[in-house]
Amino acid sequence: MALLEIRNVVKQFDDFTAVNDVSLSVEAGEFFTLLGPSGCGKTTLLRMLAGFEQPDAGQILLDGQDMSRVPPEKRPVHTVFQNYALFPHMTVRENIAFPLKMAGWAKDRLDAQVDELLEDVRLTEFGKRFPHEMSGGQRQRVAIARALVDRPRLLLLDEPLSALDAKLREEMQLELIKLQKEVGITFVYVTHDQGEALALSHRIAVMSHGQVEQLDIPENIYGNPKNRFVADFIGQCNVLEGTVRALDGETMTVDIKGCGEVRALAVPGVAAGQQGWLALRPEKIKLDKELPDLPDEAYFKGRIHDCLYLGDVTIYIVEVADGVLIEAMLPNNIPGVAKFFDDGDIVEIAWRFDAG
Ligand code: ADP
Ligand code: MG
Repeated sequence: MALLEIRNVVKQFDDFTAVNDVSLSVEAGEFFTLLGPSGCGKTTLLRMLAGFEQPDAGQILLDGQDMSRVPPEKRPVHTVFQNYALFPHMTVRENIAFPLKMAGWAKDRLDAQVDELLEDVRLTEFGKRFPHEMSGGQRQRVAIARALVDRPRLLLLDEPLSALDAKLREEMQLELIKLQKEVGITFVYVTHDQGEALALSHRIAVMSHGQVEQLDIPENIYGNPKNRFVADFIGQCNVLEGTVRALDGETMTVDIKGCGEVRALAVPGVAAGQQGWLALRPEKIKLDKELPDLPDEAYFKGRIHDCLYLGDVTIYIVEVADGVLIEAMLPNNIPGVAKFFDDGDIVEIAWRFDAG
């Protein structure tokens, strides 16, 4: 049985549907992420898991028990927010101890538990400090320790790293992965940052307009997006409109508007004549003045329209037909060379259509 089961949950604010018939389940020990653009309903869904909001329809089960109507303080669930929400007049130790004190724990047992948590978040030396004497990353670690101190079944995290700068955020991502492994508590994590979701999660539910668009492991969310929204939202992606001309076993021929025909992997259920789109990741595309003619690949000729030098890679924007632009990303693996091609160069691009 799944630890958490969300069944057909709906939440409305007046006539606006913020969460629209969401069903999913989360296994014990999982690092599960709700990912989607701002306003897609992530926080609303999380607040229903915490008990701060009640669903208008559907059920939320924890360990098989319906907890949809159970008040927040009666649920074995805690939440970590973006803004830490620590008590400013309490030390780090007192902050972490607070939930145990409220629950009436004896001093010895409480001290031992707080020590363990301080160690888990690597703040053993900081117990006597006050929140204002600590960095943003450290404060967030205190908030996480406090939320874990009475070993909830489920920890909910709502964009907990979004107030931190990029470098610190990356460090904290690594710490979160380690911490979740160590404590073994199930995390439901909310973010609008696809890189963060891919890096942290065992599984990701991509949301848009209150609904789950795709639920899968990070590799499939990135490598095998189920629809155009997911392809567009996760990472850089070229999306080309086309019409299916012919099916040939596992492959099909697609006529890309204005560019000509290419081969692609057949999608289950697709039929000749159908309109669709082809998603191409920039890093999967080969680009050169001349490419060898391999039968497995799909080709276009084009003209370099723009180059974006990004240090480790350069993005080449190639015009393959009137107004049709394709981005290709090449690593800058020759020291001192920023780009291999210039604006206006005539080039060929190719990709392996069977490589996801
Ligand atoms: P996310 O966390 O994905 O950014 P939210 O769950 O916060 O999205 O919000 C989803 C939608 O529901 C938004 O359009 C938001 O304006 C709306 N919303 C959220 N809470 C309320 C509320 N209490 N009253 C009215 N509308 C709300
Ligand atoms: Mg939110």
